[in-house]
This record gives sequence, C-alpha cells and structure tokens, in this order.
Amino acid sequence: MSNQDKGTAVVTGASSGIGAVYADRLAGLGYDLVLVARRADRLEELAERLRYAYGIKVGVISADLADDGDLRRVEQAISTDDSVTLLVNNAGLGGAQMVATADADVAERMIKVNVVALTRLTRAVLPELLARNRGAIVNIASVLAFDTSFGGIYSGTKAYVVNFTEALQREVADSKVAIQVVLPGATRTEFWEVAGSNIADLPAEIVMTADDLVDAALVGLAKGETVTAPGLSDPAGLESYLGARQGFFGSLLAGKPAARYAA
Ligand code: NAP
Repeated sequence: MSNQDKGTAVVTGASSGIGAVYADRLAGLGYDLVLVARRADRLEELAERLRYAYGIKVGVISADLADDGDLRRVEQAISTDDSVTLLVNNAGLGGAQMVATADADVAERMIKVNVVALTRLTRAVLPELLARNRGAIVNIASVLAFDTSFGGIYSGTKAYVVNFTEALQREVADSKVAIQVVLPGATRTEFWEVAGSNIADLPAEIVMTADDLVDAALVGLAKGETVTAPGLSDPAGLESYLGARQGFFGSLLAGKPAARYAA
C-alpha cells in the first residue's frame, strides 16, 4: 500500500549511483516516487523493482535536464502534482576540465544540469511546499565546492549549490519546509567513469559507498541539518568554517578602500 501521508518524492538522476540509492531508501520509508533521468530503461527497471518490493507508486520521467524543453516538461509535471513532498536534486555530472581546454558544450551541459535544472526544479515545487507548510528539498553538492584544484567549472557549479541551498534555508526558515545540502566526497558510482577518470586511482580509504553516503544524508535530514557532510567526523569544523566565513563577510564592508589600495 502506498503511504499517502509521506507523499511523493521526486529524485533526479535516479538511473544510477546516489540517486538510485535514494530511490530505494525513500521507497522503504513509504514514499511514492517520481524518478527522473535520461536512461528510461534503467528507470523502468528500478521502478518495477521498487513497486514490487515496497508496494508504492512509481512514476518515471525520461528527460535530459540539459535540454530546455525536457526541463520545462519535468517542471510542469512536478509543479502540478500536489502529492509531491520531497525533491532530491541529485542529477549531476563532473569532470576535472581546465577552462582553457574544456569542451565548451560539455561545460555548458554541466552548468545546465548541476545549476540551472536544480534551480528551476526547486522553484517549481517550493511554492506548493510552502503553501502546505511541509516537505523538504535536498540538493546534492560536493566537497569540491570547497576546493578548486580540479578546475573551476565543476567546483563552481557545486559552490553555487551550497550557497543557493544555504540561502534557500534562510528564505524558508519560518516554515516547516526542510532544506538540506549534502556534501559527498569521493563516492563509488559511475560518476567517475562518465567524467573520464578512474576512482581506482584514489586511496581506497577516502572512497565511500553510495549506500553509506545516502544513509548518512538521510540521518542528517532527520536531524534537521541544513549542511550534511557525511565524511566529516568533527561537526565543530563545519561550524567554525561557516562562522569564520560570516565574520569575514562582515570585514569586507567599508565605506573606503583599505589603506593598501591607496593610489
Ligand atoms: P552517477 O552514478 O553518474 O549518476 C548521475 C545521475 O545523473 C544519473 O542518474 C544520470 O542519469 C543523471 N544525469 C546526468 N546527466 C543528466 C542529464 N543531462 N539529464 C538528466 N539526468 C542526468 O553519479 P553519482 O555519483 O550518483 O552522482 C550524483 C550526484 O552526486 C551528482 O550531482 C554529483 O555531482 C554528486 N557527487 C558525486 C560524487 C562522487 O564521487 N560520485 C562526489 C561528489 C558529488 P542518465 O545518465 O540516465 O541521464
């Protein structure tokens, strides 16, 4: 039986990796699902398994989130579905391209999926969540939001996701809508192969499974965290970083240039 109380969770990028694990776990929690990605065959296979295992309703939308028409089709579908209570903006692609040598079209697709789609899909569901004063939006960023050594394009998209989500949490703070950004580190999925790298080149001890990552992220969501960093053992590190950043922001505001910039 579907659990009408939980409502429907929309998971983008559910055809593999982290998104497929989210779909499985959310099904286990009793959510109905809408699964989004390009590979319809994989989505249908997962949907069939989850319907059978959990007795939930699962809808599939095959869409390329880098395509304007497809993105608007997904927006339309989820903004008019008043059963939606949870959006997991997980679809994404990476790569360590340097700007001078990057394929400009690949870079644009990355920005469209990682940034534009995430923003438009959030905008599509947020008004209804606020109107019903319930539900959650989960955005999957990356630890590379805080590191620029692998190129500015992927890192830049994920820094956007972090800032966007933190600001979103402030925007809805007076409501019961939960907002979370998740910071995966290296996670064993197809992501690496798609990005043209080999996860086997990394020290095994820093690589997490997608199962562990998603289970930890769901614990963070249940705890009401805005920023969840599954690999971070001391949460004081995150608090001191965010606190220092806020203090630094205050120190940037002045009516005159600092003395070292005297012409
Ligand atoms: P993955 O296994 O490659 O999954 C990526 C998902 O995104 C797939 O379902 C893919 O589906 C979907 N996707 C990619 N381009 C799309 C497009 N144009 N339109 C629609 N869907 C698209 O990788 P993953 O590791 O699970 O990645 C999930 C998220 O975690 C991403 O946002 C990624 O940036 C983030 N992350 C991953 C790692 C890591 O080490 N794996 C680390 C930090 C952050 P289709 O190909 O079927 O469209």
